[in-house]
Amino acid sequence: MDTAKVLDVLNAIGAKIEEEKEYLTELDNVIGDGDHGINMARGFQMVETKLPTLADKDIGTILKTVGMTLVSTVGGSSGPLYGTAFMKAGMTMAGKTEMSLEDFIQCLDVAIEGVKMRGKAVQGEKTMLDAMIPALDAMKAALTPDAAPKTILEIGVGAAWEGVEYTKTIIATKGRASYVGERSIGHQDPGATSFSYILETISNCLYGGIMVGIVIVSHSEKLAEGVVDVTKIMADGCPIVAAGGMEDGSFGTSYEKIMMAIESVHGPEGVLVLMDMGSAVMTTEMVLEDLGYDDVFMVDCPIAEGAIAATLASCAGADLAGVKQEALSSKTADKL
Ligand code: ADP
Ligand code: MG
Repeated sequence: MDTAKVLDVLNAIGAKIEEEKEYLTELDNVIGDGDHGINMARGFQMVETKLPTLADKDIGTILKTVGMTLVSTVGGSSGPLYGTAFMKAGMTMAGKTEMSLEDFIQCLDVAIEGVKMRGKAVQGEKTMLDAMIPALDAMKAALTPDAAPKTILEIGVGAAWEGVEYTKTIIATKGRASYVGERSIGHQDPGATSFSYILETISNCLYGGIMVGIVIVSHSEKLAEGVVDVTKIMADGCPIVAAGGMEDGSFGTSYEKIMMAIESVHGPEGVLVLMDMGSAVMTTEMVLEDLGYDDVFMVDCPIAEGAIAATLASCAGADLAGVKQEALSSKTADKL
């Protein structure tokens, strides 16, 4: 991700914390002093007001500024803790304007070291570390050369929430929650929860909503558009476009229309093209040869039923192979 994306992500984190403010505060009410949501929301609100001034700065400077802002505005112990975490990450990213997945994992690594140092805490004391450390470990373990960054982050998010569940089973020995001792059992840690929301927001902001695109090629403009309309009723939100008829709307298939349609829905997850027959197939083949993408597939299936199956799968988060498989299954699905 580049600098602009980092700013987007920070904005999204602010919005998520604001959304979960009451809930985080409620959690802190049970085992602490009931201010975690309020504290975090105050800090991230101030961060949001600073973001526009950071547009031309490197990622290191942005993260350090976030950290310093949190230290001075959050109030509770989560201020210096999250503040240290962001400042340490900022040091790792000093001068950089691009952040890779490896960079991100490195940032989480040093952030954890920072929290351990500042809070004099280790794993298993019912703190934010009980979500942070499992998330880091899971992502490191999943980091193989051919693993998709999206999958690795999702694994991290899953491990963080499992960590939150684990905090219910242990006694707090650090922070205010340690005052309630045994009574803290059965209740999840607010800091572990807020961290999991932060990681989840980063994952959603980077990879959420990115779906396989779908193109419907037909000799008839009306038919292609009609198929798209039907899928919108069943699975709204999927990037699907019609490439029907000729440029002037007459009957036939248009190289330009098909190419533009594919380009308009082509994203990181690729595109599936459904065609009626004859020249629709041949023209699409020519477009694909010229585009040279390795993530645009044609599928041999009925266009209406296939489009519905494909858009439902795409909306459910399936990858290109999975969406193609669903579209193909429409070929043999019984209607009666
Ligand atoms: P305070 O406890 O000062 O009211 P917050 O309510 O904002 O601050 O934050 C509480 C959260 O901070 C806890 O749920 C826990 O995750 C985390 N926390 C508190 N103390 C420590 C510590 N020493 N080390 C690591 N995390 C801690
Ligand atoms: Mg508190």
